[in-house]
Amino acid sequence: MPPLKVNPLDYDVFRQEMEEITQRECDPDITSAVHTILTAIGEDPDRPGLQRTPERIACMYEELTAGYHVDPVALVNGAIFEVNYDEMVIVRDIDFYSLCEHHMLPFMGKAHVGYIPAGRVIGLSKIPRVVEMYARRLQIQEQMTRQIAEFLQGVLKPMGVAVVVEGFHLCAAMRGVKKSNARMVTSAMLGIFKRNQSTRAEFLANIGRQGPEQ
Ligand SMILES: [Zn+2]
Repeated sequence: MPPLKVNPLDYDVFRQEMEEITQRECDPDITSAVHTILTAIGEDPDRPGLQRTPERIACMYEELTAGYHVDPVALVNGAIFEVNYDEMVIVRDIDFYSLCEHHMLPFMGKAHVGYIPAGRVIGLSKIPRVVEMYARRLQIQEQMTRQIAEFLQGVLKPMGVAVVVEGFHLCAAMRGVKKSNARMVTSAMLGIFKRNQSTRAEFLANIGRQGPEQ
């Protein structure tokens, strides 16, 4: 797929109102594919309410999958600092919105991220952006959880990283056995969080969860 021109420094562009985004022309392949879907489900794509729907959806998918086009290294560039600090750092309750790769329906919830530095820390505002970069793709919650943890492990080389994600999946809520309130919890524990039960317990207590998730 051709890269979109997304500058990590303009990351807040993702929060623009859809009105603004639909001012420009979006991917014509998506537009025509949605037109086909509308016909296939028995709709009339030319009726007034649907006339601009294919184009709107094309713009929406560009926004919701923009994470594919962000260079993660550039995203954190300039926000990594050498410090002499070795206590646990936790950013909790990071809201995320993603699309499940099996149904392309939303799943959403909160991510909690912790790490214990070994000489390097990352600007706190960058951690939600790392989460968002991996969320704005077609995803599996387990994989997203692991990608966030491994990315931070790679750039910070800390003593360990812990990520817990709680997600509400519309594909589970809307389809089949409608377990509308079910939340899925996934975790990735690396380094000291994996090896040391009390470190893991301290993290889980801080994010309001009891006991090991592994
Ligand atoms: Zn799904």
